[in-house]
Amino acid sequence: KTIDTEIVIIGAGGAGMTAAIMLKQAGKDFVILEKMPYVGGNTTKATGGMNASETHYQKEQGIEDSNALFAADTMKGGHALNDSALVAMMANSSAGAIDWLDTIGAELPKISFSGGASVNRIHAPEDGSGVGAYLVDRFSAKLNELGVKVMLETAATELLADADGKITGVKAEGPDAIYTINTKAVILASGGFGANEEMYTTYRPDLKGTVTTNAPGATGDGIVMAQALGADLVDIEQIQLHPTVEQTTSILITESVRGDGAILVNQSGERFTNELLTRDAVSAAELAQEGSYAYIIFDQKLRDNLKAIEKYVKSGITVQADTIEGLAEQLAIAPATLAKTLADWNEIVKNQRDTQFGRTTGMKEDLTTPPYYAIRIAPGIHHTMGGVKINVAAEVINTEGAAIPGLFAAGEVCGGVHGGNRLGGNAVADIVIFGRIAAESAMAYIGE
Ligand code: ADP
Repeated sequence: KTIDTEIVIIGAGGAGMTAAIMLKQAGKDFVILEKMPYVGGNTTKATGGMNASETHYQKEQGIEDSNALFAADTMKGGHALNDSALVAMMANSSAGAIDWLDTIGAELPKISFSGGASVNRIHAPEDGSGVGAYLVDRFSAKLNELGVKVMLETAATELLADADGKITGVKAEGPDAIYTINTKAVILASGGFGANEEMYTTYRPDLKGTVTTNAPGATGDGIVMAQALGADLVDIEQIQLHPTVEQTTSILITESVRGDGAILVNQSGERFTNELLTRDAVSAAELAQEGSYAYIIFDQKLRDNLKAIEKYVKSGITVQADTIEGLAEQLAIAPATLAKTLADWNEIVKNQRDTQFGRTTGMKEDLTTPPYYAIRIAPGIHHTMGGVKINVAAEVINTEGAAIPGLFAAGEVCGGVHGGNRLGGNAVADIVIFGRIAAESAMAYIGE
Protein backbone atom coordinates (compact mmCIF):
# COMPACT_ATOMS: atom_id res chain seq x y z
CA LYS A 1 0.00 0.00 0.00
CA THR A 2 1.08 3.55 -0.63
CA ILE A 3 0.42 6.48 1.69
CA ASP A 4 1.22 10.11 0.92
CA THR A 5 1.79 12.43 3.87
CA GLU A 6 3.97 15.35 4.90
CA ILE A 7 5.59 13.97 8.05
CA VAL A 8 6.04 10.47 9.52
CA ILE A 9 6.65 9.94 13.24
CA ILE A 10 8.28 6.59 14.02
CA GLY A 11 7.42 5.37 17.53
CA ALA A 12 4.60 6.26 19.92
CA GLY A 13 6.45 6.58 23.22
CA GLY A 14 6.75 9.86 25.08
CA ALA A 15 8.74 11.69 22.40
CA GLY A 16 6.60 10.49 19.47
CA MET A 17 3.30 11.29 21.16
CA THR A 18 4.53 14.75 22.17
CA ALA A 19 5.50 15.47 18.55
CA ALA A 20 2.16 14.11 17.32
CA ILE A 21 0.16 16.43 19.59
CA MET A 22 2.25 19.40 18.38
CA LEU A 23 1.75 18.53 14.70
CA LYS A 24 -1.98 17.97 15.05
CA GLN A 25 -2.48 21.21 16.98
CA ALA A 26 -0.76 23.00 14.09
CA GLY A 27 -3.07 21.26 11.62
CA LYS A 28 -0.36 19.24 9.88
CA ASP A 29 -0.83 16.14 7.80
CA PHE A 30 1.18 13.24 9.28
CA VAL A 31 1.12 9.58 10.30
CA ILE A 32 2.50 8.00 13.47
CA LEU A 33 3.72 4.40 13.45
CA GLU A 34 4.10 2.13 16.49
CA LYS A 35 5.43 -1.39 16.14
CA MET A 36 3.92 -2.74 19.35
CA PRO A 37 0.16 -3.35 19.80
CA TYR A 38 0.14 -0.55 22.40
CA VAL A 39 1.66 2.92 22.83
CA GLY A 40 4.02 4.11 25.55
CA GLY A 41 7.33 2.26 25.15
CA ASN A 42 9.90 2.73 27.90
CA THR A 43 8.20 6.00 28.82
CA THR A 44 5.40 4.06 30.56
CA LYS A 45 7.99 2.63 32.94
CA ALA A 46 9.35 5.97 34.18
CA THR A 47 8.46 6.22 37.86
CA GLY A 48 10.17 9.39 39.09
CA GLY A 49 9.27 12.63 37.39
CA MET A 50 10.49 15.33 35.01
CA ASN A 51 13.38 17.63 35.83
CA ALA A 52 12.69 21.26 34.98
CA SER A 53 14.06 24.59 36.22
CA GLU A 54 12.65 28.10 36.74
CA THR A 55 9.13 26.63 36.49
CA HIS A 56 6.01 28.35 37.75
CA TYR A 57 5.53 25.44 40.17
CA GLN A 58 8.99 25.98 41.66
CA LYS A 59 8.32 29.72 41.98
CA GLU A 60 4.93 29.13 43.61
CA GLN A 61 6.57 26.74 46.07
CA GLY A 62 9.45 29.08 46.87
CA ILE A 63 12.14 26.89 45.29
CA GLU A 64 15.07 28.84 43.89
CA ASP A 65 16.59 27.23 40.82
CA SER A 66 18.17 28.33 37.57
CA ASN A 67 18.54 26.89 34.08
CA ALA A 68 22.31 27.24 34.43
CA LEU A 69 22.28 25.14 37.60
CA PHE A 70 20.09 22.47 35.95
CA ALA A 71 22.54 22.34 33.03
CA ALA A 72 25.56 22.17 35.35
CA ASP A 73 24.04 19.33 37.42
CA THR A 74 23.25 17.39 34.24
CA MET A 75 26.80 17.79 32.91
CA LYS A 76 28.27 16.71 36.23
CA GLY A 77 25.94 13.70 36.44
CA GLY A 78 26.94 12.70 32.91
CA HIS A 79 30.68 12.88 33.74
CA ALA A 80 30.82 15.89 31.35
CA LEU A 81 30.57 13.56 28.34
CA ASN A 82 27.26 15.23 27.43
CA ASP A 83 26.83 17.60 24.47
CA SER A 84 26.71 20.89 26.38
CA ALA A 85 24.63 22.67 23.71
CA LEU A 86 21.91 20.00 23.93
CA VAL A 87 22.01 20.17 27.73
CA ALA A 88 21.66 23.97 27.71
CA MET A 89 18.77 23.69 25.25
CA MET A 90 17.05 21.16 27.53
CA ALA A 91 17.45 23.31 30.62
CA ASN A 92 16.43 26.55 28.91
CA SER A 93 13.32 24.93 27.38
CA SER A 94 12.24 23.03 30.49
CA ALA A 95 9.95 25.62 32.11
CA GLY A 96 8.21 26.16 28.77
CA ALA A 97 7.70 22.40 28.46
CA ILE A 98 6.03 22.33 31.89
CA ASP A 99 3.73 25.17 30.76
CA TRP A 100 2.89 23.24 27.59
CA LEU A 101 2.08 20.10 29.59
CA ASP A 102 -0.33 22.23 31.67
CA THR A 103 -2.16 23.25 28.49
CA ILE A 104 -2.82 19.64 27.49
CA GLY A 105 -3.98 18.57 30.95
CA ALA A 106 -0.76 16.84 32.02
CA GLU A 107 0.17 18.81 35.14
CA LEU A 108 3.25 17.89 37.17
CA PRO A 109 2.96 20.05 40.30
CA LYS A 110 4.61 17.85 42.93
CA ILE A 111 8.28 18.77 43.29
CA SER A 112 10.87 16.78 45.20
CA PHE A 113 14.55 15.91 45.36
CA SER A 114 16.25 13.49 43.00
CA GLY A 115 19.84 12.22 42.91
CA GLY A 116 22.35 14.56 41.31
CA ALA A 117 20.16 17.67 41.55
CA SER A 118 21.32 20.66 43.62
CA VAL A 119 17.76 21.71 44.46
CA ASN A 120 14.24 20.26 44.40
CA ARG A 121 13.67 19.98 40.67
CA ILE A 122 11.88 16.75 39.78
CA HIS A 123 8.21 17.39 38.88
CA ALA A 124 5.65 14.61 39.37
CA PRO A 125 1.88 14.12 39.17
CA GLU A 126 -0.18 15.25 42.15
CA ASP A 127 -1.71 11.83 42.84
CA GLY A 128 1.63 10.04 43.34
CA SER A 129 1.24 7.88 40.22
CA GLY A 130 4.29 7.05 38.10
CA VAL A 131 5.13 9.94 35.79
CA GLY A 132 5.49 7.78 32.68
CA ALA A 133 2.17 5.99 32.97
CA TYR A 134 0.51 9.31 33.81
CA LEU A 135 1.93 11.13 30.79
CA VAL A 136 1.23 8.27 28.37
CA ASP A 137 -2.36 8.24 29.63
CA ARG A 138 -2.75 12.02 29.18
CA PHE A 139 -1.02 12.03 25.80
CA SER A 140 -3.26 9.20 24.56
CA ALA A 141 -6.37 11.04 25.76
CA LYS A 142 -5.24 14.20 23.99
CA LEU A 143 -4.50 12.36 20.74
CA ASN A 144 -7.91 10.72 20.94
CA GLU A 145 -9.57 14.07 21.47
CA LEU A 146 -7.69 15.50 18.48
CA GLY A 147 -8.69 12.52 16.34
CA VAL A 148 -5.17 11.17 15.79
CA LYS A 149 -4.97 7.42 15.20
CA VAL A 150 -1.68 5.71 15.93
CA MET A 151 -0.94 2.94 13.38
CA LEU A 152 -0.29 0.11 15.86
CA GLU A 153 1.64 -3.08 15.12
CA THR A 154 3.23 -1.21 12.25
CA ALA A 155 7.01 -1.14 12.28
CA ALA A 156 9.12 1.19 10.18
CA THR A 157 11.73 -0.94 8.45
CA GLU A 158 13.64 1.49 6.22
CA LEU A 159 14.13 5.20 5.61
CA LEU A 160 14.13 6.26 1.97
CA ALA A 161 16.17 9.13 0.57
CA ASP A 162 16.98 10.58 -2.87
CA ALA A 163 20.43 10.83 -4.44
CA ASP A 164 21.17 14.00 -2.44
CA GLY A 165 20.37 12.21 0.80
CA LYS A 166 17.08 14.06 1.28
CA ILE A 167 14.33 12.06 3.02
CA THR A 168 11.61 10.90 0.62
CA GLY A 169 9.81 8.13 2.46
CA VAL A 170 9.52 5.29 4.93
CA LYS A 171 8.95 1.60 4.41
CA ALA A 172 6.81 -0.06 7.06
CA GLU A 173 5.22 -3.40 7.86
CA GLY A 174 1.75 -3.63 9.39
CA PRO A 175 -0.38 -6.64 10.33
CA ASP A 176 -2.11 -6.73 6.93
CA ALA A 177 0.10 -4.78 4.57
CA ILE A 178 3.51 -3.53 3.64
CA TYR A 179 3.55 0.23 3.24
CA THR A 180 5.53 2.66 1.19
CA ILE A 181 4.92 6.03 2.79
CA ASN A 182 5.93 9.03 0.68
CA THR A 183 6.86 11.92 2.93
CA LYS A 184 9.05 15.00 3.19
CA ALA A 185 10.15 14.62 6.79
CA VAL A 186 10.62 11.89 9.40
CA ILE A 187 10.73 12.26 13.16
CA LEU A 188 12.54 9.30 14.70
CA ALA A 189 11.09 8.63 18.15
CA SER A 190 11.71 4.91 18.29
CA GLY A 191 13.52 4.76 21.64
CA GLY A 192 16.71 3.04 22.72
CA PHE A 193 18.07 -0.48 22.32
CA GLY A 194 18.02 -1.81 25.87
CA ALA A 195 15.81 -4.75 24.85
CA ASN A 196 18.07 -5.86 21.98
CA GLU A 197 20.74 -8.12 23.46
CA GLU A 198 22.48 -8.69 20.15
CA MET A 199 22.83 -4.95 19.63
CA TYR A 200 24.01 -3.98 23.10
CA THR A 201 26.49 -6.82 23.30
CA THR A 202 27.95 -5.61 19.99
CA TYR A 203 28.86 -2.35 21.70
CA ARG A 204 29.32 -3.81 25.16
CA PRO A 205 30.36 -7.48 25.09
CA ASP A 206 30.68 -7.36 28.89
CA LEU A 207 26.89 -7.03 29.18
CA LYS A 208 26.18 -10.45 27.65
CA GLY A 209 23.42 -12.23 29.59
CA THR A 210 22.37 -9.13 31.52
CA VAL A 211 18.60 -8.89 32.02
CA THR A 212 16.76 -5.76 30.93
CA THR A 213 14.10 -3.57 32.51
CA ASN A 214 13.22 -2.23 29.05
CA ALA A 215 9.94 -2.42 27.15
CA PRO A 216 10.09 -5.04 24.35
CA GLY A 217 10.00 -2.42 21.58
CA ALA A 218 13.34 -0.88 22.63
CA THR A 219 15.27 -2.68 19.91
CA GLY A 220 17.23 0.19 18.40
CA ASP A 221 15.53 0.09 14.97
CA GLY A 222 15.72 3.86 14.56
CA ILE A 223 19.45 3.90 15.20
CA VAL A 224 20.07 1.20 12.58
CA MET A 225 17.78 2.88 10.01
CA ALA A 226 19.40 6.29 10.51
CA GLN A 227 22.87 4.79 10.28
CA ALA A 228 21.99 3.39 6.88
CA LEU A 229 21.53 7.02 5.75
CA GLY A 230 24.90 8.03 7.16
CA ALA A 231 23.82 9.29 10.59
CA ASP A 232 26.57 9.68 13.14
CA LEU A 233 26.30 7.96 16.52
CA VAL A 234 27.43 9.35 19.87
CA ASP A 235 28.25 7.61 23.17
CA ILE A 236 26.74 4.39 21.83
CA GLU A 237 28.59 2.27 24.41
CA GLN A 238 27.17 4.29 27.34
CA ILE A 239 24.57 1.99 28.87
CA GLN A 240 23.12 2.54 32.31
CA LEU A 241 22.75 -0.49 34.56
CA HIS A 242 20.33 -0.41 37.46
CA PRO A 243 21.79 -2.37 40.39
CA THR A 244 18.62 -3.82 41.91
CA VAL A 245 16.65 -5.83 39.38
CA GLU A 246 14.97 -9.14 40.29
CA GLN A 247 16.19 -11.42 37.54
CA THR A 248 13.28 -13.83 36.94
CA THR A 249 10.64 -11.08 36.58
CA SER A 250 12.85 -8.07 35.62
CA ILE A 251 11.08 -6.15 38.37
CA LEU A 252 13.12 -3.09 39.28
CA ILE A 253 13.48 -2.59 43.04
CA THR A 254 13.31 1.16 43.49
CA GLU A 255 16.31 3.05 44.88
CA SER A 256 14.08 4.19 47.76
CA VAL A 257 14.37 0.77 49.42
CA ARG A 258 18.09 1.37 49.96
CA GLY A 259 17.41 5.06 50.54
CA ASP A 260 15.11 4.08 53.41
CA GLY A 261 17.70 1.80 55.00
CA ALA A 262 18.04 -1.57 53.23
CA ILE A 263 21.44 -3.21 52.82
CA LEU A 264 22.95 -5.52 50.21
CA VAL A 265 24.66 -8.78 51.12
CA ASN A 266 26.36 -11.43 48.99
CA GLN A 267 25.89 -15.20 49.12
CA SER A 268 28.36 -15.32 52.02
CA GLY A 269 25.99 -13.09 53.98
CA GLU A 270 28.34 -10.11 54.01
CA ARG A 271 27.97 -6.49 52.89
CA PHE A 272 30.34 -5.60 50.06
CA THR A 273 29.70 -1.94 49.16
CA ASN A 274 28.27 1.40 50.18
CA GLU A 275 24.80 0.54 48.88
CA LEU A 276 24.08 4.14 47.86
CA LEU A 277 26.95 4.82 45.50
CA THR A 278 25.91 5.70 41.93
CA ARG A 279 24.12 3.04 39.88
CA ASP A 280 27.23 2.13 37.88
CA ALA A 281 29.39 1.65 40.98
CA VAL A 282 26.91 -0.50 42.92
CA SER A 283 26.28 -2.61 39.82
CA ALA A 284 30.02 -3.17 39.37
CA ALA A 285 30.37 -4.20 43.02
CA GLU A 286 27.58 -6.77 42.61
CA LEU A 287 29.10 -8.20 39.46
CA ALA A 288 32.36 -8.72 41.38
CA GLN A 289 30.62 -11.02 43.92
CA GLU A 290 30.55 -14.77 43.49
CA GLY A 291 27.68 -15.58 41.10
CA SER A 292 27.36 -11.86 40.23
CA TYR A 293 24.25 -11.31 42.33
CA ALA A 294 23.26 -10.12 45.80
CA TYR A 295 20.34 -9.92 48.20
CA ILE A 296 18.64 -6.74 49.31
CA ILE A 297 17.65 -7.08 52.98
CA PHE A 298 15.05 -5.05 54.89
CA ASP A 299 12.61 -5.39 57.78
CA GLN A 300 8.92 -4.95 58.54
CA LYS A 301 9.32 -1.32 59.62
CA LEU A 302 10.80 -0.43 56.24
CA ARG A 303 8.01 -2.33 54.46
CA ASP A 304 5.39 -0.41 56.44
CA ASN A 305 6.91 2.90 55.40
CA LEU A 306 7.33 2.30 51.66
CA LYS A 307 4.30 1.74 49.43
CA ALA A 308 6.34 0.25 46.56
CA ILE A 309 7.26 -2.81 48.62
CA GLU A 310 3.68 -4.16 48.65
CA LYS A 311 3.96 -4.74 44.92
CA TYR A 312 7.15 -6.76 45.38
CA VAL A 313 5.62 -8.91 48.13
CA LYS A 314 2.49 -9.49 46.06
CA SER A 315 4.47 -10.59 43.04
CA GLY A 316 6.11 -13.33 45.08
CA ILE A 317 9.73 -12.23 44.74
CA THR A 318 10.37 -11.64 48.46
CA VAL A 319 11.57 -14.26 50.92
CA GLN A 320 10.62 -13.63 54.55
CA ALA A 321 11.23 -15.07 58.01
CA ASP A 322 10.62 -14.15 61.62
CA THR A 323 14.32 -14.29 62.48
CA ILE A 324 17.49 -13.35 60.64
CA GLU A 325 18.74 -16.89 61.04
CA GLY A 326 15.52 -18.20 59.51
CA LEU A 327 15.94 -15.82 56.57
CA ALA A 328 19.54 -16.94 56.11
CA GLU A 329 18.50 -20.61 55.99
CA GLN A 330 16.03 -19.91 53.20
CA LEU A 331 18.77 -18.16 51.22
CA ALA A 332 21.34 -20.91 51.93
CA ILE A 333 23.52 -18.35 53.71
CA ALA A 334 25.36 -19.34 56.91
CA PRO A 335 22.94 -18.09 59.63
CA ALA A 336 25.66 -16.90 62.01
CA THR A 337 27.29 -14.77 59.30
CA LEU A 338 24.07 -13.02 58.30
CA ALA A 339 23.18 -12.46 61.95
CA LYS A 340 26.59 -10.86 62.53
CA THR A 341 26.24 -8.67 59.39
CA LEU A 342 22.88 -7.38 60.63
CA ALA A 343 24.20 -6.81 64.17
CA ASP A 344 27.19 -4.90 62.75
CA TRP A 345 24.89 -2.87 60.49
CA ASN A 346 22.59 -1.93 63.36
CA GLU A 347 25.63 -0.78 65.32
CA ILE A 348 26.68 1.34 62.32
CA VAL A 349 23.22 2.94 62.22
CA LYS A 350 23.36 3.59 65.97
CA ASN A 351 26.74 5.31 65.68
CA GLN A 352 25.91 6.89 62.29
CA ARG A 353 29.35 5.79 61.13
CA ASP A 354 29.93 3.14 58.46
CA THR A 355 33.49 2.10 59.24
CA GLN A 356 33.26 -0.67 56.61
CA PHE A 357 32.14 1.11 53.43
CA GLY A 358 31.67 4.76 54.31
CA ARG A 359 27.93 4.91 53.66
CA THR A 360 26.47 8.20 54.87
CA THR A 361 22.88 8.19 53.60
CA GLY A 362 19.84 5.93 54.03
CA MET A 363 20.84 4.97 57.55
CA LYS A 364 18.25 6.66 59.73
CA GLU A 365 16.49 3.41 60.71
CA ASP A 366 18.05 0.15 61.89
CA LEU A 367 16.88 -3.26 60.71
CA THR A 368 15.45 -4.83 63.89
CA THR A 369 11.72 -5.27 63.31
CA PRO A 370 10.65 -8.79 62.28
CA PRO A 371 9.73 -10.27 59.96
CA TYR A 372 12.86 -9.82 57.86
CA TYR A 373 12.80 -9.79 54.05
CA ALA A 374 15.19 -10.53 51.20
CA ILE A 375 14.98 -10.19 47.42
CA ARG A 376 17.65 -11.70 45.20
CA ILE A 377 18.83 -9.05 42.73
CA ALA A 378 21.48 -8.32 40.12
CA PRO A 379 22.12 -5.47 37.68
CA GLY A 380 19.75 -4.96 34.76
CA ILE A 381 19.98 -2.81 31.64
CA HIS A 382 18.05 0.38 32.25
CA HIS A 383 18.78 3.14 29.73
CA THR A 384 20.87 3.48 26.59
CA MET A 385 22.41 6.95 26.81
CA GLY A 386 23.94 6.85 23.33
CA GLY A 387 22.25 7.01 19.94
CA VAL A 388 22.01 9.13 16.82
CA LYS A 389 23.70 12.51 16.86
CA ILE A 390 21.38 15.52 16.81
CA ASN A 391 21.87 19.27 17.04
CA VAL A 392 19.82 21.69 19.15
CA ALA A 393 17.15 21.80 16.42
CA ALA A 394 16.75 17.98 16.69
CA GLU A 395 18.17 17.55 13.18
CA VAL A 396 20.01 14.27 12.71
CA ILE A 397 23.69 14.85 11.92
CA ASN A 398 25.66 12.63 9.55
CA THR A 399 29.26 11.44 9.90
CA GLU A 400 30.36 14.46 7.81
CA GLY A 401 28.85 16.82 10.39
CA ALA A 402 25.95 17.96 8.18
CA ALA A 403 22.23 17.70 8.91
CA ILE A 404 20.41 14.97 6.95
CA PRO A 405 17.66 16.94 5.16
CA GLY A 406 14.23 15.98 6.48
CA LEU A 407 15.42 13.69 9.30
CA PHE A 408 14.71 14.69 12.90
CA ALA A 409 14.98 12.71 16.13
CA ALA A 410 14.01 12.96 19.80
CA GLY A 411 14.13 10.85 22.95
CA GLU A 412 16.13 7.75 23.78
CA VAL A 413 16.98 7.13 20.10
CA CYS A 414 19.38 10.11 20.39
CA GLY A 415 22.71 10.38 22.16
CA GLY A 416 24.37 13.40 23.69
CA VAL A 417 21.90 14.70 26.25
CA HIS A 418 22.86 12.36 29.09
CA GLY A 419 26.56 11.73 28.45
CA GLY A 420 28.00 8.90 30.52
CA ASN A 421 25.22 8.72 33.09
CA ARG A 422 21.60 9.86 33.00
CA LEU A 423 20.15 11.57 36.05
CA GLY A 424 16.75 10.45 37.28
CA GLY A 425 14.14 12.86 35.88
CA ASN A 426 16.09 13.70 32.74
CA ALA A 427 14.61 11.02 30.45
CA VAL A 428 11.15 12.56 30.75
CA ALA A 429 12.59 16.07 30.31
CA ASP A 430 14.40 14.84 27.19
CA ILE A 431 11.31 13.34 25.51
CA VAL A 432 8.95 16.24 26.13
CA ILE A 433 11.47 18.98 25.29
CA PHE A 434 13.10 17.41 22.23
CA GLY A 435 9.78 15.90 21.10
CA ARG A 436 8.46 19.46 20.86
CA ILE A 437 11.61 20.76 19.19
CA ALA A 438 11.60 17.95 16.60
CA ALA A 439 7.99 18.74 15.72
CA GLU A 440 8.74 22.45 15.34
CA SER A 441 11.82 21.81 13.21
CA ALA A 442 9.98 19.33 10.97
CA MET A 443 7.16 21.83 10.45
CA ALA A 444 9.62 24.60 9.61
CA TYR A 445 11.39 22.26 7.17
CA ILE A 446 8.27 21.22 5.23
CA GLY A 447 7.13 24.85 5.21
CA GLU A 448 10.27 25.96 3.40
P1 ADP B 1 11.15 7.76 23.77
O1 ADP B 1 9.92 8.26 24.41
O2 ADP B 1 12.41 8.17 24.44
O3 ADP B 1 11.16 8.02 22.31
P2 ADP B 1 10.03 5.07 24.20
O4 ADP B 1 10.72 3.79 24.45
O5 ADP B 1 9.09 5.56 25.25
O6 ADP B 1 11.18 6.15 23.91
O7 ADP B 1 9.20 5.02 22.86
C1 ADP B 1 9.69 4.48 21.66
C2 ADP B 1 8.57 3.77 20.94
O8 ADP B 1 8.96 3.46 19.60
C3 ADP B 1 8.17 2.45 21.58
O9 ADP B 1 6.78 2.43 21.81
C4 ADP B 1 8.61 1.40 20.56
O10 ADP B 1 7.79 0.24 20.57
C5 ADP B 1 8.48 2.16 19.24
N1 ADP B 1 9.29 1.63 18.13
C6 ADP B 1 10.54 1.12 18.18
N2 ADP B 1 10.97 0.74 16.97
C7 ADP B 1 9.97 1.02 16.09
C8 ADP B 1 9.78 0.86 14.68
N3 ADP B 1 10.73 0.31 13.92
N4 ADP B 1 8.62 1.26 14.13
C9 ADP B 1 7.63 1.80 14.90
N5 ADP B 1 7.74 1.97 16.24
C10 ADP B 1 8.88 1.60 16.83
